[in-house]
Amino acid sequence: MLVIHCPYCGPRPEPEFAHGGQAHIARPHDPANTTDEELLQFLYLRENPRGLFRERWRHARGCGRFFNAIRDTNTDFFVTTYKVGERPALPGGAQ
Ligand SMILES: [Zn+2]
Repeated sequence: MLVIHCPYCGPRPEPEFAHGGQAHIARPHDPANTTDEELLQFLYLRENPRGLFRERWRHARGCGRFFNAIRDTNTDFFVTTYKVGERPALPGGAQ
């Protein structure tokens, strides 16, 4: 069974978690003056890389808190998990 490390509770089995998609998606600063293209990007367009990817997760059947993770989409290996507001470097120094 896949074990995910919640940064608040520690290691727990994967069925306790809910995947939340790409991490670090920022809302438009001025929604009234946002173009259709910017709104399309914010609402629908997401990266889908092969390899290391920053994702948002929620410990839905545990503490209920959101956190982020760096996961390798090739192997399903979690490189690290971290609290919202943090942003550790990717292995190899990439952002
Ligand atoms: Zn937790």
